[in-house]
Amino acid sequence: MSSVVQMACPHCNAINRVPGERAGDAPKCGRCHRPLFAGKPIALDATSFEAHMNRSDLPLLVDFWAPWCGPCKMMAPHFEAAAAQLEPAMRLAKVDTEAQPDLGARFAIRSIPTLALFKGGRELARMSGAMHAADIVRWAQGQTR
Ligand code: ZN
Repeated sequence: MSSVVQMACPHCNAINRVPGERAGDAPKCGRCHRPLFAGKPIALDATSFEAHMNRSDLPLLVDFWAPWCGPCKMMAPHFEAAAAQLEPAMRLAKVDTEAQPDLGARFAIRSIPTLALFKGGRELARMSGAMHAADIVRWAQGQTR
């Protein structure tokens, strides 16, 4: 008995179906053959956001940030460290609210950095303000238990 986990490729947005027990085994995309997980956050635009939010079984943890935001820059290495710990159970992604203003507006992001956790197209939780890697991991895991 094995469950199949559906997930979007971070490179080409193809939807892959990976047996649950293989998810931690460096799975590769069936279309572009690149790794489905790199141990670091991926940058999303409007198109890839839809694939990862609505067509993936994995919880999607998004860091809404902007290049001019000091606390966002401080948090970036912590978010990257959290990705190494939370993958492959979760997908970590960044949305540059300056480059993707529609996404920031759609989710009414009023302060950055804001972390938002999505699953199955629904927002489960969000948290504003810079966090350390250990706090990001604990918070995200606490929302998906
Ligand atoms: Zn791919």
